[in-house]
Amino acid sequence: MKKIQMVDLNGQYQTIKEQVNDSIANVLETSAFINGPEVHAFQKELEDYLGVKHVIPCANGTDALQIAMMGLGLKPGDEVITADFTFAATVEVIALLNLTPVLVDVELDSFNIDPVALEKAITPKTRAIVPVHLFGQCANMDAIMEIAEKHNLYVIEDNAQAIGASYTQKDGSKKKAGTFGHVAATSFFPSKNLGCYGDGGAIFTNDDALAHTLRGVVNHGMYERYHHDVVGVNSRLDSIQAVVLRAKLPLLDQYNKSRREAAEKYSKALEGHKNIIVPTLVNTCATQCENCDCHVFHQYTLRITNGQRDACVKHLGELQIPCGVYYPIPLHLQKAYLDERYKEENFQVTNQLVKEVISLPMHTELDDEQIAYITSTILEFVNQ
Ligand SMILES: *Cc1c(COP(=O)(O)O)cnc(C)c1O
Repeated sequence: MKKIQMVDLNGQYQTIKEQVNDSIANVLETSAFINGPEVHAFQKELEDYLGVKHVIPCANGTDALQIAMMGLGLKPGDEVITADFTFAATVEVIALLNLTPVLVDVELDSFNIDPVALEKAITPKTRAIVPVHLFGQCANMDAIMEIAEKHNLYVIEDNAQAIGASYTQKDGSKKKAGTFGHVAATSFFPSKNLGCYGDGGAIFTNDDALAHTLRGVVNHGMYERYHHDVVGVNSRLDSIQAVVLRAKLPLLDQYNKSRREAAEKYSKALEGHKNIIVPTLVNTCATQCENCDCHVFHQYTLRITNGQRDACVKHLGELQIPCGVYYPIPLHLQKAYLDERYKEENFQVTNQLVKEVISLPMHTELDDEQIAYITSTILEFVNQ
C-alpha cells in the first residue's frame, strides 16, 4: 500500500508537471513577476468559473478577509459576527482592524454558523456577518442573506475551504460558494482545494464600486501611481502562483469530484455505527442530483461520540494513518479572543464538537486500498 498522507500534493503535480514547469520557466524568462499577464488571465478565468463579476487576487486568504473588511469601510467598534468553530484567521482580521468580533455557535450537523444564534447576537452596533463555509460545505446562505437584509448588514463569505462548491437556493437556483454575499474571500494555500505552490488568495464581488475600492486597497491605496487615496496594504498574487492556479483551475471540478468519491467511500464504510457520525450533506440538492457539488470536502470530518476521540487519534497515529483535529479549541476560549460577554451556555455545540471531531486524510490521490485500511482501522477501534 502507498504511504497514506493527510494531503498529497505531489500526485497532482506529476499530472500537470510539464505545463507548470514550462509556464514557470516562461515567467522567469519574461520577468513579469508581479501583476503580469498571467495574474490577469487567472483573474478572468476565475471570474468565469465562479460566475462573479470581479475577482481581485491578493497574497493570501487572511489578507483577502482583511481587505474585504477594509473595502467595506468597517470602522473601529463595529461588531462583526462570525462562527466560534473555524480557523482563527477569520476572527484575527476582525480584531486586527479594531472591529469587535462576536463569536456565535454553529450547527451540529453542518458545523456551520447557526442562523438562530447569529440573529440573536445582532445589536445596533452590528455591521457585518462572516459565514465560513467550513470543510467544503456552504453555510445556510438562504437564512443568512435574509437576516442580513432584514438588519441591513454586510455579508463577507469566508470561502477558503469551499471553492467550487455550489449551493441550491430556496427558489431552486444554484450558485457557487462565494457569490452570495457582498464580498467573499478565498485562499490558495497549497492544501486548499485549489492550491498554489506558495501563498495566494482572492476576493470576489459583484459590486463594481466595491471592486474598484478593493483594487486600490490591495495596492497601497493607489488608483493612480503615487496617489494614495485610501489606506491600503501590499497584498499581491505573484505570476508564478498564477501559472500554477491557471494549470489547476480547469481541473478543479475533477479534483473536487475525487474528493467527493473518497468521502462517499468513507461514509459508506463508517455510517450507521453507534459511536460514529459521518458528515451530513445539508443542502437539498445532495439527494437530488447526481455528481452533486454541494460539498467539496476540503476536510472529511467525523464525530466520534463515545468520548474516545483522542484515543482514536492516537491509535491511528500508531498505525501510520495521519489525521487531524480541526479545531481542538473553540475560538471564544482562545486567549487572544476572550471576551467577558461570552456565556458558555451559548457555545454548547462548539464545545461538544471540539471533543468529537476527527478529520481523515483527504486529497485527490486516495485509493481504495488506503480507504479500506483507514476505515477498517477506525471500525476495529470503535468496536473494541
Ligand atoms: C486557510 C483559511 C484561511 C486563511 O487562508 P491563508 O491563505 O492561509 O491566509 C481563512 N479562513 C479559513 C476558514 C481557512 O481555512
